[in-house]
Amino acid sequence: MKPDPTQEALVIATYSRQMLLRLADSSELRARIKGKRLRPVCGDKVEAQPLPNEPEWLITSILPRTNELTRPDSRGRTEILAANMDLLVVVAADAPPADWFIVDRYLAAAELMQVSAMVVFNKTDLSGPSDSSAAALSDYAAIGYETISCSATDGANVDQLSVLLREHTAIIVGQSGVGKSSLINCMLGDDKLRVREISAATGEGRHTTVNSAMLTLPGGGSVIDSPGVRDYAPAIERPDDVIHGFREIRKVGHKCRFANCRHLREPDCAVKSAVEDGQISARRYESFRRLLSMSQELADKRK
Ligand code: GDP
Ligand code: ZN
Repeated sequence: MKPDPTQEALVIATYSRQMLLRLADSSELRARIKGKRLRPVCGDKVEAQPLPNEPEWLITSILPRTNELTRPDSRGRTEILAANMDLLVVVAADAPPADWFIVDRYLAAAELMQVSAMVVFNKTDLSGPSDSSAAALSDYAAIGYETISCSATDGANVDQLSVLLREHTAIIVGQSGVGKSSLINCMLGDDKLRVREISAATGEGRHTTVNSAMLTLPGGGSVIDSPGVRDYAPAIERPDDVIHGFREIRKVGHKCRFANCRHLREPDCAVKSAVEDGQISARRYESFRRLLSMSQELADKRK
């Protein structure tokens, strides 16, 4: 009997239905996907096997995912952008002006995905953080998120950022223009060339656009880079889930008079008292309310 040629592999880049796989021995090869139903994404662990007389392998199954980053596609279906990450890195800066509500939405999505998250304030080479940015950063530190300030331009603190990513498969998100690509390039250093090799390896001279790629950082760890993911601020589809996105509100919420308190207009609401006496940041509470009404609108539309 011939040995089973099936091997476990990691999806490290995707180009529509073309994938680049890394095998356990670190070798990399191209693969296509068996059938139309199977939709592997970057970060997936898959089973694949070589095809006789063909350079490409065939992906036959996707192993169970620990998590998925999703967004609704243009037809309102859920599109899966990446899988199996364990750290969400949210980047903000003062130029373009930070939208901390977007940061809160990402952090809420991370809580719901049960992925750790951290906040990076980039472009410290420009004038220091504005008062509102400094206040937001201290809000995050106070509720236990790792925060770091750095500059992709002069390299300040980028080494420390690399250390924080060392053990992780991270995804880097944030508004357009805050410096996500610059930070990734800065951490990659001389390995930037190797990223171009990945593109070349799958391109075969044809014009192919990379949908997403998992980049190995020189100091350890990896970053999933995907244009679809970068600027996308996730929505929370079920209003009841919004509370789980705000760890400090969730924590105080069980002291409210009503077990099903929504922390809006209810009497004896521990959350509102905590906001009034400054224990919970008023800005974060406002984000909570905004996200709740966004989510409610989405839910009403679906009815
Ligand atoms: P992305 O859209 O988040 O990927 O942002 P980019 O990495 O493309 O950067 C957007 C712009 O900000 C570019 O013009 C960068 O040169 C600039 N930029 C990125 N990082 C820094 C930084 O640390 N300091 C300054 N001054 N500019 C930066
Ligand atoms: Zn309440």
